[in-house]
Amino acid sequence: MPKYAIITGGAGFIGSHLVDRLLDEGDWQVVVIDNFHPGYPRAIKESNLARHRDDPRLRLVEGDILDDATLDTAFYGVDPRKAVVVHLAALVGVRPSMAMAREYHRVNVTGTLHLLEQARARQAAHFVLASSSSVYGKEPAVPWREDMERLEPVSPYAATKLAAEEFTRVYARLHGLDATVLRFFTVFGPRQRPDLAIHAFFRKIGRAEPIQQFGAGLTSRDYTYVADIVDGVRRAMDRPMVRKPGQGSFEIFNLGHSEPIVLKDLIAAIERECGQQAVVEVLPDQPGDVPHTYADVEKARKQLGYEPSTSLGAGLRAFVDWFREHEEIFQPVERDTPTG
Ligand code: NAD
Repeated sequence: MPKYAIITGGAGFIGSHLVDRLLDEGDWQVVVIDNFHPGYPRAIKESNLARHRDDPRLRLVEGDILDDATLDTAFYGVDPRKAVVVHLAALVGVRPSMAMAREYHRVNVTGTLHLLEQARARQAAHFVLASSSSVYGKEPAVPWREDMERLEPVSPYAATKLAAEEFTRVYARLHGLDATVLRFFTVFGPRQRPDLAIHAFFRKIGRAEPIQQFGAGLTSRDYTYVADIVDGVRRAMDRPMVRKPGQGSFEIFNLGHSEPIVLKDLIAAIERECGQQAVVEVLPDQPGDVPHTYADVEKARKQLGYEPSTSLGAGLRAFVDWFREHEEIFQPVERDTPTG
């Protein structure tokens, strides 16, 4: 009996790893919706899915989540009652969202609403939303827990993620949709987006270009390896549903590593991996950046059996192996951002 997964943003970094995982499991029919947004080179996204090019269990629908005809095509031939929608497509990155707030809102909030409508109307079995640690803003009390009440995002990107979460909650309450929100903490590993710190630092150190350090280098991020994130997504897709009368099941989970790394230590670890010293250009703190991210993952551990296990060193080595194999397809990408 096939199970169906509709993965938006499935050609991207995290989405393509989820595609690998589901097709390796064997009993999934996978539909990817992706518009190959030009935020970074198309060739990277094509190479992310290349190994499944001839697999009849994967269907790629190239199009925009805001386009209803694209969504109709994606659902064609899918039994929605056996379908999980994993919604990963988004405009990503904190810093570019400052100048493009309306476009971020259109894709991340209105786009999510389009998918929620489809999932509700077709009675999809489960809707899983990729959210972000950025919804916690500059909350000083760490580690961050899902039941913290006063969430104050500090960038348009973070605000769109929180708004998408709230629409998902409303659809669960109002329309009985079973839904799960996953707050990812800075994800790294093979295929990482070129704008994210680890990828940008490797690329630049390798070319003897200066890397940009915003602030004194004392900010920290809860770097989480992509296979651990995908394992958390997989477990969330299968989670048991506890429903209130007339409502769908709704839960929020942090997916992080719970071991924040200070920026200076990250740079030192990358220098060790590269065997080269970084030339560091120190710039002022950026508006929209947060000083720390730190996940409490007890809820995911207890309810999903989530157990992140990949160390920073092992994850960096896997990234380097992938990077060296694919180096020729990277164009210089100067749009760097520390969270996403
Ligand atoms: P990514 O950019 O590699 O993947 C997103 C994909 O969505 C891309 O392939 C892009 O082409 C596609 N897309 C964008 N707009 C679209 C549209 N309108 N219609 C169809 N497809 C569209 O990013 P990623 O790092 O894999 O992030 C995946 C999700 O995880 C995003 O929702 C992001 O906000 C969230 N997230 C990522 C991180 C991280 O560290 N990478 C952290 C927190 C949250």
